[in-house]
Amino acid sequence: MNISLVNPSKETILIVDRNPDGIESILTRLTEWGYKVRCANTGLIALTQAQIDVPALILLDVEMSDLNGYEICTQLKTNPRTREIPVIFTSALDLVSDKVKAFSVGGVDYIAKPLQIEEVLVRVQNQLSIRNALKLLTAQNMLLVEEIRERQRAEEALRLSEEKFSKAFQASPQPMTITRLVDGCHLEVNEAFCQSMGYAQEEIIGRTAVELDIWADREDRTRLFKQLTMYGAARNFEFESRNRSGALRTALLSAEIIEIDGEKCLLSLSNDITERVQAEAALHKANQELKRLASLDGLTQVSNRRSFDEYLLQEWVRLKEKQLPISLILCDVDHFKLYNDTYGHQAGDACLQKVAQTIRSTLKRQTDLVARYGGEEFAIVLPDTAAPLAAQIAEAIRLAVEGLEIDHFNSTTSDYVTLSLGVVTTVPSPEFSPEALIGVADLTLYEAKKLGRNRAIAENF
Ligand code: GH3
Ligand code: MG
Ligand code: MG
Repeated sequence: MNISLVNPSKETILIVDRNPDGIESILTRLTEWGYKVRCANTGLIALTQAQIDVPALILLDVEMSDLNGYEICTQLKTNPRTREIPVIFTSALDLVSDKVKAFSVGGVDYIAKPLQIEEVLVRVQNQLSIRNALKLLTAQNMLLVEEIRERQRAEEALRLSEEKFSKAFQASPQPMTITRLVDGCHLEVNEAFCQSMGYAQEEIIGRTAVELDIWADREDRTRLFKQLTMYGAARNFEFESRNRSGALRTALLSAEIIEIDGEKCLLSLSNDITERVQAEAALHKANQELKRLASLDGLTQVSNRRSFDEYLLQEWVRLKEKQLPISLILCDVDHFKLYNDTYGHQAGDACLQKVAQTIRSTLKRQTDLVARYGGEEFAIVLPDTAAPLAAQIAEAIRLAVEGLEIDHFNSTTSDYVTLSLGVVTTVPSPEFSPEALIGVADLTLYEAKKLGRNRAIAENF
């Protein structure tokens, strides 16, 4: 008979028989087939051996001297270590009741004695195949069970984390939303968002920010989506939002693209920074005003000496670079000491104010700057202005002040308040400096005084 074996060399078979001599030939044949065979001639020895070195299968004689085969099998089946060993009963008793008993105590097969070697081999082989198949199945089942448990654990962890996220989302004091990326539809919004926007949750869910008219400037929306497309997220994105009552709020938004049930969504978190932005704007305005006031002369409200110095230097550098001309006019009220002496200091102040405003209104260009240079002296910076135009402007100023017809009874020059002006023009160069320019203008002004006052003298170099 042709019998194929299941790795017999690796399998140990324990033969339990009170008369080992009677089964000599079986033992030999099984060994020849490659099985490792061990024998036990009492029940106790069998139980001990099975416990120490667990065999793959036991051939168990029913009629033993100490314990009978059924008792041995019962004990094997109650011990977790030996429980899984397949037990094949061998017996000279061939009654149905014996066979039933053998199976009821956990036997897997029953072979009648005298044993036929080929039958024993086939039955042993069968049981070992079944046992191996069962082992494989059990291992696979265990893997499957472990896999199911692992999935259950992961699902539970996910459920818990979703639950935690949902609680944090709802309880967050910061306005939060989840929108569907494809159409901008709101899927979830928290209480803080509803409060800041003035809507009930059910009024927002299912609608888009565009439908709710939340974007004050559509350009901002385009800008945000550009950022999201480029980086997959947006950080500190500042934009103007409009709430239900139409009030504009400034929000600082951080958004992240996330996936929910396979769909791309946008998780957004925003801060209302309206108060901060308003405070910053007010502060900026106050600073600007402070700066403006700091640059003005208190009496005449034209620029003061410090801002004149700064402006002259700035324009000097700029025009030196461009190699364009700069002109400077220095002017001084004629016989002003006498004016004060005649009309009083207060009238003198008012006169200086009128003169300053008149000079300013004579200047046409934004870049021209008039400053109070000293007591009753004014300086005018004329960037990018060549000598002829500078002389014209100086003359226009002289005429305008004279035209004010402010009485100056004791003046020896005119019946009215007049100005003397020194005009100087140059293209800035490294050999020359703003201070030198002022020096030349001062000399020219002195020249105008010397020549009789109420006149403009120009110097060009
Ligand atoms: P000149 O024609 O040569 O310039 O004679 P002047 O009298 O104008 O020149 P001087 O330098 O002798 O006198 C300038 C006067 O300007 C003296 C000063 O009291 C007066 N002054 C300077 N600052 C102020 C001011 O803020 N208010 C008034 N009311 N007078 C001022
Ligand atoms: Mg003076
Ligand atoms: Mg003077």
